[in-house]
Parts: sequence; structure tokens; C-alpha cells
Amino acid sequence: MQPGYIQAVEQNVLSRRIDKAGKWASNCCLCPRNCRVNRMEGELGFCRTGALAPVASYNLHFGEEDPLVGERGSGTVFFGHCNLGCVFCQNYDISDNQSRHQEVYPNQLGFIFMELQKKGAHNINLVTPSHVVLSILQGLKEAAGQGLNIPLVYNTSSYDEVHTLKLLDGIVDIYLADSKFFHPEPAKKYADAQDYPEKARMAIMEMHRQVGPLKTDEKGIARKGLMIRHLVMPDNLAGSKEWLEFFADNLSRDTFINIMGQYRPAGYAHMYPELTGRVSGDRVMELKQKARDLGLVNLDERESGFFKLIY
Ligand code: SF4
Repeated sequence: MQPGYIQAVEQNVLSRRIDKAGKWASNCCLCPRNCRVNRMEGELGFCRTGALAPVASYNLHFGEEDPLVGERGSGTVFFGHCNLGCVFCQNYDISDNQSRHQEVYPNQLGFIFMELQKKGAHNINLVTPSHVVLSILQGLKEAAGQGLNIPLVYNTSSYDEVHTLKLLDGIVDIYLADSKFFHPEPAKKYADAQDYPEKARMAIMEMHRQVGPLKTDEKGIARKGLMIRHLVMPDNLAGSKEWLEFFADNLSRDTFINIMGQYRPAGYAHMYPELTGRVSGDRVMELKQKARDLGLVNLDERESGFFKLIY
């Protein structure tokens, strides 16, 4: 089996990236929030995360896309808190519930990665990783020395800075990238992140530059590449057609795209009448046809709503 990238990364390269991430965390510019707090000294910015990573849970997970799950499951590590904070967060119980988080040191995170590999996970799936890139790199350094060799999945909202993603170049094998809001107005209203559309588009293009379209092994298990998720929103709040046009114009036409119809009102969605609706199956089918018409040929064709975002 072809190993993941991490075994090919020299320890001194990893150390230099860790140093850079630590410097950025000391005056935090790791994500587009650009809070400029010193997380190494315990100051907290938007993500409420200091120097250590909050881990909500880790386990083999069978609710992700087929190429990630295979027969043995995806080794998910759910990080607590988030740098985006959508009011309708579909993982609200995890992202916002501090009592479910445990802060872990780098050696503990490395241990978690190794545990998941020993359990047979096809990959290490880092869920909501953007604010904990420093901890991830530190944990990988620990685990790489212990033989971690399965692909790393960066499972992100795409509210990422390109300069931070470059720290992961040659380390992350698979990017699993959300495409949430295409337009600034809903991004501002529902996540207080007016720049999300611009930042996410640049981030997705950088991810595509690093790993290209999805490659799988002979059993259909993901080895490398970009996988896109698009959660269709009520009232077209996500700008679905515009996203599909963006993908067709800027990414390989064989980029894996999962158009998801399982939106449900969660978190604070009840405070926004327009977020309390659902998305019809017909709407999802219409968008899938739109994608095909645009020449996008690698759509996740499972029935919409088949899989859950979390366990
Ligand atoms: S990672 Fe957290 S502290 Fe740093 S800029 Fe982003 S939200 Fe702010």
C-alpha cells in the first residue's frame, strides 16, 4: 500500500513548519479572523482555543463519503470549537459544548492518531482543524516517528488562510472542503464572516493546487486529492449554482463533489425563520443535474441524506 505523505516528510521540515505555526499562533493569524492574540500565553481569540487542541471525541466513523470509509472506517478526530461558527452548525453539540472537550498535549494527539491507525482506520480525518493546525503538526511529528502511515484528511469549513494551508503542503493527503456561502451577505449574517466567500474560494484553489483531483486505490479507498462538500441551504442561502459554476471554471472537472441535501435547523437556526426550513430532494436533484450540465463528472451519487455529518 502506498503510504501517506507524512512518512516522506523530513523531521526538520516538520520542525520548521511547527516553528512557523507557533510564531503565527503567538500573534494569531492562523485563520482569516486574524485575531492577533497570543495563544501561546493563554489569550483567546474568536475560536476560544489556546495553545492546546480541544478534542471532543475520536473513533472509527462510518458516516463519511464512501472513499473515506471503506470497510474499516475513517479515523475521525473531532476538534472542539471552530473558527467559523455558523449559527446553524450541524455539529453544534460538538463545536459549542465545552464540557465535551478535553485539551490534549501533542504527545496525546500523536497517541490518538496511532490508536486510530491500530484500530484499522483507512485515514486520519481531522474534523474542524483550521484553528488547531499548530497542534496537528506537533501531533503528527510525534506519530510520524511511531510509524503513522495512513493518509491525513483535512476536513475543513474552508475558512482557511492560504499561508496556513501552505504549512500542510506535502503533509495533508486529502482535503475534504466545505463550500458554504458563495456571497458575503449570508456569510456575514450567519457566521459573522463577510470575507468567507473570498477566503474559501482561495483556500479551495490552494488545496486543489496541492493535491489535485481525488485518487483512489484499487478498492476505491481515497489516497490523495480534493473532495468538495456542498450543503444545500434553504432559500438558496449557500449560492449553490454559483459554487458549481466556480468549481467548473476553476477546478478539474473530475473533482469529487458531494452535493448534500441533509440540512436541518440546528444550533441557533431557530432564531432565523429562513433557516428553519428543509431542502427538498427535487432541489438536490436539480443541482446535481446542473453540475452534470457544467461538465462536473465526479459527483457523489449516493442518495441525498444517506449519510450523517456526525455519528
Ligand atoms: S485561529 Fe482562532 S485565534 Fe487564530 S485568528 Fe483564527 S479564530 Fe483567531
